[in-house]
Amino acid sequence: MKPVGPIPPGFDCVEGELAIAGRRVSEWVAEAGRTPLFVYSKALLDARMAELRAALPARVGVNFAVKANPHPAVIAHMAPLVDGFDIASAGELAMCEAARIDPRRISFAGPGKRDEELEAAIAAGVTLNCESEGEGARALAIGQRLGIAPRIAVRVNPSFVMTGSGMKMGGGAKQFGVDAVRVPALAKHLIAQGAEWRGLHIFTGSQTLSANSIIEAQANVLSLAAELAEAIGAPLPKLNMGGGLGIPYFPGDMPVDLPKVGAALTERVADLPPVLAQTELCMELGRYLVGEAGVYLTRVIDRKESHGVTFLVTDGGLHHQLAASGNFGTVVRRNYPSAIATRYGEEASEEVNIVGCLCTPLDRLADNAMMPRAEVGDLVAVFCAGAYGATASPSAFLGHGPAAEILV
Ligand SMILES: *Cc1c(COP(=O)(O)O)cnc(C)c1O
Repeated sequence: MKPVGPIPPGFDCVEGELAIAGRRVSEWVAEAGRTPLFVYSKALLDARMAELRAALPARVGVNFAVKANPHPAVIAHMAPLVDGFDIASAGELAMCEAARIDPRRISFAGPGKRDEELEAAIAAGVTLNCESEGEGARALAIGQRLGIAPRIAVRVNPSFVMTGSGMKMGGGAKQFGVDAVRVPALAKHLIAQGAEWRGLHIFTGSQTLSANSIIEAQANVLSLAAELAEAIGAPLPKLNMGGGLGIPYFPGDMPVDLPKVGAALTERVADLPPVLAQTELCMELGRYLVGEAGVYLTRVIDRKESHGVTFLVTDGGLHHQLAASGNFGTVVRRNYPSAIATRYGEEASEEVNIVGCLCTPLDRLADNAMMPRAEVGDLVAVFCAGAYGATASPSAFLGHGPAAEILV
């Protein structure tokens, strides 16, 4: 037997079924017309944002990292809730524009921005988080040609990273950002060449559950930002401090102690060095905002035995849920939180392997999991599906096509 991860808060059982936003999953499937289906809950998105606003100092804004969930309805729902949007491609820019998000609230990070992407961003008035000297030169040239001063921040490759178990000092070679020692020279050059200086972007890590690691990283980011601002000799209009807050996916994972993180940050921002006194601060979060608000629903198509092991074969799989299958950056496969959604009120009574419909043994959604007995037609729920699901999985693989998605 292998345990499944912790089911996030905010879900109910109605008439024996998993309910999202007060309605049974079978009703949502009927409304969407098919499985597999991602259901994203507005109420859970709102609740998470409210928790964040309550914990963080008012001085620190919250940006949504669009790549975590670029579904148009999700972007539109987040628009009035967050302060800014972080994008990583011209495609994500187009999605934000379609949601009528003010480009001045958007910043564009990511290596390998093509000239067309830089041009679209500069023309729209989006802030570029500059990833290299070469990219800075191309942005300046494009700005000159368009007659627009590009809004540019510099993304810093810090000499520290955030880890789950504390801070690893020592730096390293990365394709992201500009090595901290070279940032002042680049920033001065961009300012001298007429860019609209927007400050720094320092992203130190992702999926961290330890409040202490986050607090330490934030302290390091603020010190580094102050140091760099002094060296640049110009105030930072803005500092994107990164994010990195994780969500519990696996057995034993505990949620981030958000009040603790917020209290430490409140203390820190009350006591900033003069060079950061006027700086606008923000965090950028992806999975923490949307991950737990989504559930992936897939239907049991077949129930079979092999060598004494029971397989529930579903119409979903790793083509929509690469991370839950254990093939997206994990070494040891562990079970995401999952359940037989149409038997949510029943006791677990058998050990099963829940698999997808792809012709590869990698396509597993839960293995050796204790579940209530499920039959053909039952619905399986995989939780924590609101981030890095639909668009971070190879939906063209094997031709089953993408899953449906609804925001409810
Ligand atoms: C992916 C990414 C994020 C979002 O990460 P999460 O783990 O989803 O919070 C934030 N900032 C940058 C620069 C990223 O690349």
